[in-house]
Amino acid sequence: MKEAEELAKGRKTKRLFHAVRQVLEGKRLIEDAAKYKIICVGAALIHVVFAICMYIMHVDIMFYYNLVIVASYFFMGFSMSAKGKLTTILFLLFIEIELHSALATCLTDMDFGFMLYTVSLVPMAFYLSNRPVGKIGHTKFAVYLSFFVIVTYLAVTAIYPRVDKIYDVSGYNSMGVGIRYFNVFIAFLLQISFSLLFALEKEYMSGLLTNENVKLSEDASHDPLTRLWNRRSLTNAVNEAINTMERIQVFSIVMMDIDDFKHVNDTFGHDVGDVVLVGLADIIRDEVRAGDYSCRWGGEEFLLFANGPRNEVQSVAERILERLRNTQFEDKKGGTFSVTLTAGVAEFRYGAQLRNVIDAADKRLYYGKTHGKNQVVSAS
Ligand code: GH3
Ligand code: MG
Ligand code: MG
Repeated sequence: MKEAEELAKGRKTKRLFHAVRQVLEGKRLIEDAAKYKIICVGAALIHVVFAICMYIMHVDIMFYYNLVIVASYFFMGFSMSAKGKLTTILFLLFIEIELHSALATCLTDMDFGFMLYTVSLVPMAFYLSNRPVGKIGHTKFAVYLSFFVIVTYLAVTAIYPRVDKIYDVSGYNSMGVGIRYFNVFIAFLLQISFSLLFALEKEYMSGLLTNENVKLSEDASHDPLTRLWNRRSLTNAVNEAINTMERIQVFSIVMMDIDDFKHVNDTFGHDVGDVVLVGLADIIRDEVRAGDYSCRWGGEEFLLFANGPRNEVQSVAERILERLRNTQFEDKKGGTFSVTLTAGVAEFRYGAQLRNVIDAADKRLYYGKTHGKNQVVSAS
């Protein structure tokens, strides 16, 4: 039992490390609730340190303030964030940081560096407004907050010399230096962390956008059923290949059409017909060589634009026909059936018009259809 628990815990730690690595590589976003939980727990721990310091220096108000705040942050981190009250947490967080910085400065010493935390609010505001949380989450919000930070910083700087000191902390010089180092370190750490997270999220988002663009252009250039190129993208690619072809180069075009496909649909249903189309597409994909182009020309017609003279490409077409003949497709009643195709082959030499060569291949295909089907015609 204990072993199983440890194993589960081990897996959890492993999962956590994996997630952190993915975030650092810009491959994953931190979920909002988790993000606020981490921030609240981190803030609570920082305030534990403050509470101890204030207790030692006998600054009672700040000691009790910090105790209440530690409890509040744990409540926000574990209860409110799980309930999705992120906007409220965000407001409370910003108000608390401003309030604590001002109070701790005025009740102790400006040199202790508590005001530095307000500066850390700026990257934090921009980062947290990067992705909307509730109604706020707009860049405007971060800009307003940045100005608010400047105003409070200036206000505290102006007020500080004028407030009567309730507590005398002058006897805690070395402790003051320690607090200052702690505050400088944490404030800079916060700035670096939020700026880094901001940059990582940007990286993740642009990765997402790139993937989306790749997918969109894939979808636009491919037939959704067979995933072969569609007519438009093949025509573009072929035209490009023709424009850069050398004089001695020879291509051949194969136009293929499944025989009696209407009968397949009528007998076995349209979805079984679709399976046949995918099956033939798979065979074509398998048989074409690198540098050849194949597409679903339309309906049950497929076009192959291949490197090589007519007789060479004719044997590719014959292999496709042979494999299709030998493929057993399943009907819905547990039986099997097979189909054939007819193909016309025409050679494309330097300087030829693509339209004319496609027409020539089409004519041979028609010849084959009217002379028994189930064959590859390369001469007429
Ligand atoms: P032939 O041997 O002369 O080529 O006869 P055929 O029945 O194959 O030719 P026809 O042009 O009469 O019929 C083609 C059929 O292909 C009709 C159409 O419903 C079907 N078809 C076109 N696109 C699709 C598709 O995406 N899925 C399915 N299942 N059928 C399709
Ligand atoms: Mg047809
Ligand atoms: Mg047909």
